[in-house]
Amino acid sequence: MSYYSPSVEKLIESFERLPSIGHKTAVRLAFYMLNTSKEETDEFVKSIIDAKKNLKLCSKCFNISDSDPCEICSNPKRDASQICVVEDFKDVVSIERIHEYKGLYHVLHGTISPMDGIGPEDIKIKELIARLMDGSVKEVILATNPKVEGEATAMYISKLVKPMGVKTTRLAHGLPVGGDLEYTDEFTLGKAFEGRTEL
Ligand SMILES: [Zn+2]
Repeated sequence: MSYYSPSVEKLIESFERLPSIGHKTAVRLAFYMLNTSKEETDEFVKSIIDAKKNLKLCSKCFNISDSDPCEICSNPKRDASQICVVEDFKDVVSIERIHEYKGLYHVLHGTISPMDGIGPEDIKIKELIARLMDGSVKEVILATNPKVEGEATAMYISKLVKPMGVKTTRLAHGLPVGGDLEYTDEFTLGKAFEGRTEL
């Protein structure tokens, strides 16, 4: 049985569905929200609705953005001869944070994972190859996570890209094996970028 009224219970359940929020935190957040003014609540809800409404996928790099093409693809100061390939749009944020990389991105939206039934055609690989057709890209940096699936995906892409005469590099070791770019500190990620090796 629950000690809370049904509407409070529902709010707690909604918070509990968020990543890394346990029951205790959900209760705390629910009561925090109940104690805020109507204006604050409206603004919070509106920010979620607006973000969902405005966000699109960039038709070039498949990053999420308020605009298409995204801010990075449409920035003339970015080096269009380099494409950094990542699994997820969160990885774009991680790499942008180190302020080292000035090229463009390509977001795969996953990794090849036969165990989960995800093949090369299920992620944005053919879209990446299409971007290399005009010959303006000189280097593809494979920044998939240093896990089994990430490594396999990097290898698969490098086998397709190398015959096109495009240099393929992989972030240097030193990244925690089995780890996530998202949780790698800026210094380590910066070093991994600097020390990237040709495949
Ligand atoms: Zn883009």
